[in-house]
Amino acid sequence: MNFDVIIIGAGPGGIFSAYELVQRRPDLKVAVFEAGHALHKRKCPIDGDKIKTCIGCKSCSIMNGFGGAGAFSDGKYNITNDFGGTLYEYIGKKQALDLMRYVDEINLKYGGEGTKLYSTNGTRFKTLCIQNDLHLLDASVRHLGTDINYIVLENLYVYLQDKVTFFFDTPVLSVKAVEDGYEILCEGNAYQSKHCIISVGRSGSKWMESVCRELDIHTKSNRVDIGVRVELPANVFAHLTDELYESKIVYRTEKYGDKVRTFCMNPKGAVVNENTNGIITVNGHSYEDPAKQTENTNFALLVAQHFSEPFKDSNGYGESIARLSNMLGGGVIVQRFGDLIRGRRSTTARINEAFITPTLNATPGDLSLVLPKRILDGIIEMIYALDKVAPGTANEDTLLYGVEVKFYNMEVEVDENLESKHKNLYIIGDGSGITHSLSHASASGVHVARNIAAR
Ligand SMILES: Cc1cc2nc3c(=O)[nH]c(=O)nc-3n(C[C@H](O)[C@H](O)[C@H](O)COP(=O)(O)OP(=O)(O)OC[C@H]3O[C@@H](n4cnc5c(N)ncnc54)[C@H](O)[C@@H]3O)c2cc1C
Repeated sequence: MNFDVIIIGAGPGGIFSAYELVQRRPDLKVAVFEAGHALHKRKCPIDGDKIKTCIGCKSCSIMNGFGGAGAFSDGKYNITNDFGGTLYEYIGKKQALDLMRYVDEINLKYGGEGTKLYSTNGTRFKTLCIQNDLHLLDASVRHLGTDINYIVLENLYVYLQDKVTFFFDTPVLSVKAVEDGYEILCEGNAYQSKHCIISVGRSGSKWMESVCRELDIHTKSNRVDIGVRVELPANVFAHLTDELYESKIVYRTEKYGDKVRTFCMNPKGAVVNENTNGIITVNGHSYEDPAKQTENTNFALLVAQHFSEPFKDSNGYGESIARLSNMLGGGVIVQRFGDLIRGRRSTTARINEAFITPTLNATPGDLSLVLPKRILDGIIEMIYALDKVAPGTANEDTLLYGVEVKFYNMEVEVDENLESKHKNLYIIGDGSGITHSLSHASASGVHVARNIAAR
């Protein structure tokens, strides 16, 4: 065996597995294989000047590399079982929260000290929301911000680099069960270990499917969330974001009874492109540093689509809708809420006339040509509902970027140790379909590391 433990993927799941193994069993030989670059080499070529849109790099610096999809994220670590994944169904609610709090302590130790922990505890907004048929979910959220999140990752890497062997720009091609362990194949080389932790995130979802097929691991997949990213002047939501930072609000539509929710709120933030397997969708982030903040707040409005038999390809459905916006707009489409309601496309002139400056250079267009009616109706209803707790949300100039798709990895069959039916083969983080967030993915990494250390 070359190593005691091989970890595939250096996102939060992989990093926290490595960190906890080093804490508990410094004698173990641990290796991390990462398809993307080392942190300091991660740079998206879009500069808004010479390169305005995604050029489809071989390894996307936003999604891949040390830090994973979270490296340039807003660094919002939500400490809650109410959203962000279903880790608690495997390890119990208390254990899941304890692990998320432990991850928070480590983030503070490695550079996050001084950042704010927001909480919905005792907030008056819960009442205000319920009075308007909106539901505010409970959570504590540590907001590191994109800048501090990066510093924490830098510090964690400095700590780990001489204790763990890192292989960057090294996608793992396959995982094979061998006698007493696992063999992974990379271009030209094979490595063996007794334990293997797979933590390949959303970007590794297709690869994960092939591994599950080859190793006969049962999977299920039936959900995708589709919607838009809303951008409006920061003062419209300031009363909520100043107190809670992020408010996860759920609304049940009158028309269809569908649930629409706010997701990934970025006060004074920026809207960004996201490239998932060559499809351009939209996302958002914000900085802790006031110098880098904008005058706008952005958040997603998502409608969950659950499919039943015989349809299985929920992510394929989401991709097809995103492809439509890419086809019409060459990437992400932006539309003023007023134009959408009037049934006309937004044009560059109409966007320029608006009282808000978009933070993303997207193509003005018509989202009603992209989003299915049921989803669009739900989003419009939710915007009017939000307008009651944050007047100004339904203003003419509110910008809607589309499409935002939240892909869910197929859920992989694992037990309470996050171990697959193959002994010592663990599947964690977003790649397992069990987590969808920084805190849950990190917590799943700590959980498997402790289990391996105990064994
Ligand atoms: C722009 C953006 C903003 C976000 N903001 C937030 C936020 O504020 N709060 C929040 O909770 N969540 C946020 N998220 C989601 C969050 O980043 C993820 O939930 C989290 O990173 C999942 O961690 P992970 O370790 O499971 O996977 P990932 O972070 O996706 O890491 C997986 C890693 O595995 C590597 N990999 C994939 N396949 C292979 C292979 N075959 N061989 C080797 N390596 C491989 C990838 O390159 C990647 O680096 C955001 C995501 C994006 C894209």
